[in-house]
Amino acid sequence: MKDVESSCHKPIVPNEISIRENAPISLMQKLEILSDSAKYDVACTSSGVDRKGDKTGIGNTISGGICHSFSADGRCISLLKVLFTNECIYDCKYCINRKSNDVKRTSFTPQEICDLTIEFYRRNYIEGLFLSSGILHNPNYTSELIYEALYKLRNEYHFQGYIHVKAIPGTDPVLVQKLGLLADRMSVNLELPTAEGLRQLAPNKHRKSILTPMRQIQNGIVSNKNELVLYKNTPRFVPAGQSTQVIVGATPESDYEIVTVAENLYQKFDLKRVFYSAFVKVNEDKSLPALPGGPPLLREHRLYQADWLLRFYGFQAKELLSEEKPNFNVLLDPKCDWALRHLELFPVEINRADYQMLLRIPGIGVKSAGRIIRARRNTKLTFEHLRKLGVVLKRALYFITCNGRMMYNTKIDEDYITRNLISVKEKLPIDTGGITYKQLSLFDDKSFMENQAKTEIIEPERMKALQEEIIRVS
Ligand code: SF4
Repeated sequence: MKDVESSCHKPIVPNEISIRENAPISLMQKLEILSDSAKYDVACTSSGVDRKGDKTGIGNTISGGICHSFSADGRCISLLKVLFTNECIYDCKYCINRKSNDVKRTSFTPQEICDLTIEFYRRNYIEGLFLSSGILHNPNYTSELIYEALYKLRNEYHFQGYIHVKAIPGTDPVLVQKLGLLADRMSVNLELPTAEGLRQLAPNKHRKSILTPMRQIQNGIVSNKNELVLYKNTPRFVPAGQSTQVIVGATPESDYEIVTVAENLYQKFDLKRVFYSAFVKVNEDKSLPALPGGPPLLREHRLYQADWLLRFYGFQAKELLSEEKPNFNVLLDPKCDWALRHLELFPVEINRADYQMLLRIPGIGVKSAGRIIRARRNTKLTFEHLRKLGVVLKRALYFITCNGRMMYNTKIDEDYITRNLISVKEKLPIDTGGITYKQLSLFDDKSFMENQAKTEIIEPERMKALQEEIIRVS
């Protein structure tokens, strides 16, 4: 890493950069085009990094500075999310920016990225930058431009705010390393769950060229952590970790295959997040699915719920789904669905169950499970205690006993519980003017909501479409 650091002082790209433009175009027009082109990339939450400004520069990444939350109308706030360029040499069939599409093309210069970021930051419009890109000329050429933008931001403008940058597969590892020393988070998009899917829809991309930078970033993070133990002032490498994005519904993989891929990515590449993006059909192409019902948003929603179970609830993909049951239940969230298929484990006595078992009870989240463990050291818990500890009793009541008694005289029967669970009206996480949907979700779980509000971005159109899909299915 030392060699790379020492070669990190000068940008590789000369100041004069030739970027093709069909006609003169203002910075605002570029911003319109390149922020619109970036909207299909969902892998942009922050952060996990906690860096205070050192008073010699501008910005910081402490919570409140870059943590994202939903604003009242569902907008994602605080991140300038743009493409560096929507030019592309590749022709991925699902992508609006593919080279065969006749769309207006433009590119920022590194200086323009700096100007926008700093000016927006100063006006308090944003708290950080998420920079993705098409491929201009080749991966190295594009990455060098991006590197120059980041280099200027960090070293000339002394911007200390959050930066998430895409690593473009095929980029020279030295350049990936240098980008990682300037960015807080990096992501390499897996795009499609399987190599076969890539071959069909993104013939210029290869699984190996995607996994290679992912592995490099993982190794870089590990060795940087080790160096930091020895040398406190070692520059941080991708301190907020890496993430990826998988498109759902463009190729025929089942939920089971997608969840298994995500599980492997978490285990083998130590990713911070896998983002699932419901396929939006923006191109007419015979190799793309028809999707008459629109983007599979409910499916995306279920995958996020399952992802949460993998990361925080100790579930494994093979517990949630199987070859025989390859897709999630439309009406029930994955945890309820699992519980109903394992009624032999219930009811669980709240005053005796271990932490892992508590986490598996519908209506009990990570925080409420922890609170139960602590509270029962002092007293025998009752249902009233559980309510105060944040347990969602309308879901949990079918699966628990307190001091040997159930809350109501209820049957432990799959059909009976299912009927009752799906008749519970739940509110969507954001105020939607009284719109409700019937199936249950982790949104009902307090701790899920708290964490989700901190980390997940759902853009307004996406939220609206999700609500419509939920209403349609229920
Ligand atoms: S590489 Fe593929 S997905 Fe990325 S911008 Fe180019 S065409 Fe789109």
